[in-house]
Amino acid sequence: MAAAARRRVPVLIVGGGPVGLYASSLLSSYGVPSLLVERSAQPSTHPRAHLINTRSMELLRELGVEPQVRAQTPPMSEWRHFRYCSTLLGEQIAAQDHMAGSTWAQLQAASPTEMQHLSQPKLAAILRADATRRAAESGASLLCGYECTLLDQDGTGVRAELRRRPSGGGAGAQAEATAEVVHVEAEDVLGCDGAHSSVRRWLGLPMQGPPPLQHFKSVHFTAPDLWPRLREADQAALARTLALALALALTLTLTLTLTLTLTLTLTLTLALALALALTLTLTLTLTLTLTGGDAVLHLQLGRGGRLRRAQPAAGRVGRAAPLLPRHRGRRRAGRARVRLRHPRVHRRRGNPHPHPHPSPSPSP
Ligand SMILES: Cc1cc2nc3c(=O)[nH]c(=O)nc-3n(C[C@H](O)[C@H](O)[C@H](O)COP(=O)(O)OP(=O)(O)OC[C@H]3O[C@@H](n4cnc5c(N)ncnc54)[C@H](O)[C@@H]3O)c2cc1C
Repeated sequence: MAAAARRRVPVLIVGGGPVGLYASSLLSSYGVPSLLVERSAQPSTHPRAHLINTRSMELLRELGVEPQVRAQTPPMSEWRHFRYCSTLLGEQIAAQDHMAGSTWAQLQAASPTEMQHLSQPKLAAILRADATRRAAESGASLLCGYECTLLDQDGTGVRAELRRRPSGGGAGAQAEATAEVVHVEAEDVLGCDGAHSSVRRWLGLPMQGPPPLQHFKSVHFTAPDLWPRLREADQAALARTLALALALALTLTLTLTLTLTLTLTLTLTLALALALALTLTLTLTLTLTLTGGDAVLHLQLGRGGRLRRAQPAAGRVGRAAPLLPRHRGRRRAGRARVRLRHPRVHRRRGNPHPHPHPSPSPSP
């Protein structure tokens, strides 16, 4: 094994995660050979990112790896929800649908691609394959199992020290992959070494924003028998939800029908009662008018000034029947119609009888 090796490249990429691998592919596609150094000898299998948002998908589409990502993404029905359950196979307490609402529809309308769901190790494998393929064409290389331990820059460029990790190098199949230390001279360095970036620290760039908000522990386990059972539980939950929805719809329909029937019956009864009351009132008024009861009388001053009650014939006022004693001496030329309250007429006249009207008589 060589103790040290030297290498000169246009661009050194520190970190072989999704960003570093993407950068390697992109530079190769522009014909810029780069050296990517990744400290892990083997790709991580621990799942991290899994939702690839629309913008990231657009970038992957530009690179030409969209079909591979889509091909490995499970059906959307299996990942569109966050489910909160009492246990893995227990009762579902709540579910949040990522694709509900207008945002999802807007995103779909605005982009030729859409959000996908792929575990980060699977995405990294796709990107690594692409970067390796392009590296062969552009003269770039990927060096895994080495850690960038030193970085220094001046006006002429950057010098970096890459140290072989105890877990071993080897991946990358480069001549340097056997050296203990690799000294690299580069024109530029891309710091793609993640959230706890050493490159950022060496450059004296502070982390912006608040300190860590939370700390998580991530446990990855495989349970091949779990998925079919989850599916069964899901189907049972779906059946329960459907039954509930059906019962709710039936109850609602019945309630509505009942309410409508009652409202209609009530309205009809009220209308009928109103019509009946109106008919009765009209009939009573008419009867009273005709029979000369305690109601408004149509009186005429006949010739000779005698008051006569008008004939109640419909549409015309009949000739008046004598009602009060004839005024002697003065004869009125025309006929005048007056409306008098019948009892008052007689009270004024001092008639003690309660119903003093003579029955209508034919006109003279
Ligand atoms: C549990 C978990 C869940 C997540 N879920 C999501 C999600 O759903 N959606 C989402 O968008 N993001 C998610 N993320 C965040 C996502 O994983 C990161 O944003 C993403 O990995 C960043 O990619 P990267 O290439 O910049 O950095 P990393 O993936 O961190 O890659 C950096 C690489 O640099 C290497 N490296 C570091 N220092 C050196 C050095 N000195 N020399 C050589 N190599 C070095 C590391 O080994 C590593 O491989 C999640 C993260 C975690 C931990």
